[in-house]
Amino acid sequence: MNGSGLYIHVPFCRSKCYYCDFYSVAALSKKAAVVEALALEIGREAVFLNSEKPQVRTIYFGGGTPSLLDASDFSRLFDAISDTYNIVACEEITLEANPDDLTPEYIQLLRQFPFNRISIGVQSLNDKELKLINRRHTASEAMEAVRLCKAGGFDNISIDLMYGLPGQTPESFEQTVCQALTLPVTHISSYALSWEEGSVLFHKLKKGVLKEASDEWLETCYFRLNRWLQSAGFIRYELSNFSLPGYESRHNSSYWNGTAYLGVGPGAHSYNGVERRYNEPSIDAYLEGIHSGNPARKTEILDDNTNYNDFVMTRLRTTPGISMAELEHLFGVSKKNYCLSNAKRSLDNGLLVYENDRLKLDDKGLFIADAICSDLIWV
Ligand code: SF4
Repeated sequence: MNGSGLYIHVPFCRSKCYYCDFYSVAALSKKAAVVEALALEIGREAVFLNSEKPQVRTIYFGGGTPSLLDASDFSRLFDAISDTYNIVACEEITLEANPDDLTPEYIQLLRQFPFNRISIGVQSLNDKELKLINRRHTASEAMEAVRLCKAGGFDNISIDLMYGLPGQTPESFEQTVCQALTLPVTHISSYALSWEEGSVLFHKLKKGVLKEASDEWLETCYFRLNRWLQSAGFIRYELSNFSLPGYESRHNSSYWNGTAYLGVGPGAHSYNGVERRYNEPSIDAYLEGIHSGNPARKTEILDDNTNYNDFVMTRLRTTPGISMAELEHLFGVSKKNYCLSNAKRSLDNGLLVYENDRLKLDDKGLFIADAICSDLIWV
């Protein structure tokens, strides 16, 4: 697999969703300054990918809400990208979008740029649930946005759905998934709601206004979701990601496969196998760092044990699992033996399977992957 990933973090939203802890601000006054700084960072940081003109295989505009950018913003960013990187063989260029931004005019604007994948934050197709998490769109607007993208020429459309939402019932979750499956989508990411400290939902939880869904209910949702999506022809290629054959997210897969990526923007992370970098999640610190030439970021030098732990944690989430031959090649026979001997309890309990030199989650282990993984990591 040749080429790296490029992630561009757009730290603006029109309003904050109640569950969200991604770095973004609900004010657009600094948008032009941030776009200019992103272009400068894109131009300066190619060296992180160990080449003068690195080959980029995937580009992902995430956020925040990248669908708040306009044509001049995209022109500036794509010019900076093509000046510095080789994108001739770039396979996937994704824009994360909010349904309320996806008007026919905006979709036509996007078609002027090389995007070939749209990832839409739908979250639920139940108006009451959408309101409780402060999404700006209704269920029918979200469905219309997907159809407009398809009609506007996008064939690769992903949506995000959540379970464990406040107010969600078994019936409403099933209805959301059934309606989603009537749409022309090629990819579905679905995560349980995470009650992030500092979010509005977490505050309401602490005040006793809302209640967390039980683990049993979340597990039921997860397995039902697997069943419904698989009957509709979707393949689970990672614990929370499902696609029609051939439509796996190449960009996200590169995170799970250890491919190098450069992340630009406030709060973005980068990884190149030797170090991991974290841009500070602050627009002011970001702008100041870019203009002074002293970027506001932290760097972690990765040692062999950290790389082994990352390898095990990310690979175990994927459907093919951990290749023991690759593990041995990268980290030596002692780490391979360590991994296999620590996997014994989960193998004996039917949570993991070991076949064709691969260690992978069995169905029983899917919902408790984190706990299983904690046995395998190096401490
Ligand atoms: S979920 Fe997305 S749209 Fe909502 S606040 Fe977070 S980044 Fe913004």
